[in-house]
Amino acid sequence: MSKYGFNTKCLQSGYDPKNGEPRILPIFQSTTFRYESADEVAALFDLAKEGHMYSRISNPTVAAFEEKISDLEGGVGALATSSGQSASLIAILTICNNGEHFIAPNNIYGGSFTLFSSTLAKFGISASFFSKDASDEEIESLIKPETKLIFTESLSNPGVDVLDLERFVNLAHKNGLPLIVDNTLATPYLLRPIEHGADIVIHSSTKYIDGHATSVGGVVVDSGNFDWTNGKFPHLTEKDPNYHGLSYTETFGEAAYIVKARAVFMRDLGTCLSPFNAFLMNLGTETLPVRMDRHSENALAVAEFLESHPKVEWVKYPFLKSSPSYENAVKYLKAGSGVISFGVKGGIEEGKKFIDNLKLTALIVHVGDIRTCALHPGSMTHRQLSEEDQIKAGITPNLIRLSVGLENIEDILEDIEKALEAI
Ligand code: PLP
Repeated sequence: MSKYGFNTKCLQSGYDPKNGEPRILPIFQSTTFRYESADEVAALFDLAKEGHMYSRISNPTVAAFEEKISDLEGGVGALATSSGQSASLIAILTICNNGEHFIAPNNIYGGSFTLFSSTLAKFGISASFFSKDASDEEIESLIKPETKLIFTESLSNPGVDVLDLERFVNLAHKNGLPLIVDNTLATPYLLRPIEHGADIVIHSSTKYIDGHATSVGGVVVDSGNFDWTNGKFPHLTEKDPNYHGLSYTETFGEAAYIVKARAVFMRDLGTCLSPFNAFLMNLGTETLPVRMDRHSENALAVAEFLESHPKVEWVKYPFLKSSPSYENAVKYLKAGSGVISFGVKGGIEEGKKFIDNLKLTALIVHVGDIRTCALHPGSMTHRQLSEEDQIKAGITPNLIRLSVGLENIEDILEDIEKALEAI
């Protein structure tokens, strides 16, 4: 659907009903697909023919959602996963083997940090972390011969730091590495990392893509632009005995990465998205532009209110002029998204008191919902990080993460004001 505008693609990409077929994407709630000849199924197993054979690997409802997100991000293909965590996992496993390494900033989502620093380490894949303020020289000093990728977040959770995307694209490519960008909080409506040179984009589609807090899911999108034949990635270029000696780059060209992600890692790990959740996420994507505009408008109003409040020590929101990310926000983002982080005056007790006094705003371990919600990362999402790692990730004891929803702005502001007064 490349000739259409973004809003049109959100509504119509991925599913094109033929004469007499349902207007709305059907839920193909079937594990399997029937074929008439053994040769046809053999061809599917050999990756010689496209088609669905088992819903762990692909499914028509899930495929429509994948095609839509790929189209929105400007990729050559996408793989939907059961969660954002499994999107990160598969995105990295498709590149890094046992004994290999990658680098990432330390202000990423806490769950990604523990996946990288702890669980992937058990698989023999190590990660080194750098400060979000590190210089190019400091970052490059972490790159070793076994380093295979750079992982980043376009808009960090919960610090809402906006990545200088082009700087990281240059750093990665100068070292022959692909850049993976977690674009969860920005969404393709506010930023399309591939247009700035990113190689792989991932999402926790649990957040704004679903948007209604109904389902957990993720997506990996391949730009198709990275040169896997540069000598650093033999497992994508050399013959794979699991598929009768097929080379991914020779057989699938620009789609080598995303085909391998599905044909090897989705096949073996089975972290697939259910057809029903793909249906819900497709439905959410249809209204993504209108929701993101309103989330951003309401969040900017809340950020400005907080900035002028005497009980608030600091506020971070990309489009506040005081934001350290303001220049990057103007350069890369269409609007600021719905997430704000701020510090109440005081410490952990004042943070908790603010949360406990909210009424309309719900205490929820989530962002990106159409309803306003709040969280205290220090005692919740980031509590498994050591105190030192929390500080490195910018998680101060008084930090509150707000995910501003689509309610009337006066109601949101009144709720926040009353909770601040109660401190
Ligand atoms: N990436 C980011 C930026 C997130 O905020 C999250 C979850 O909050 C994830 C990845 C993980 O996603 P999921 O919860 O869908 O596994």
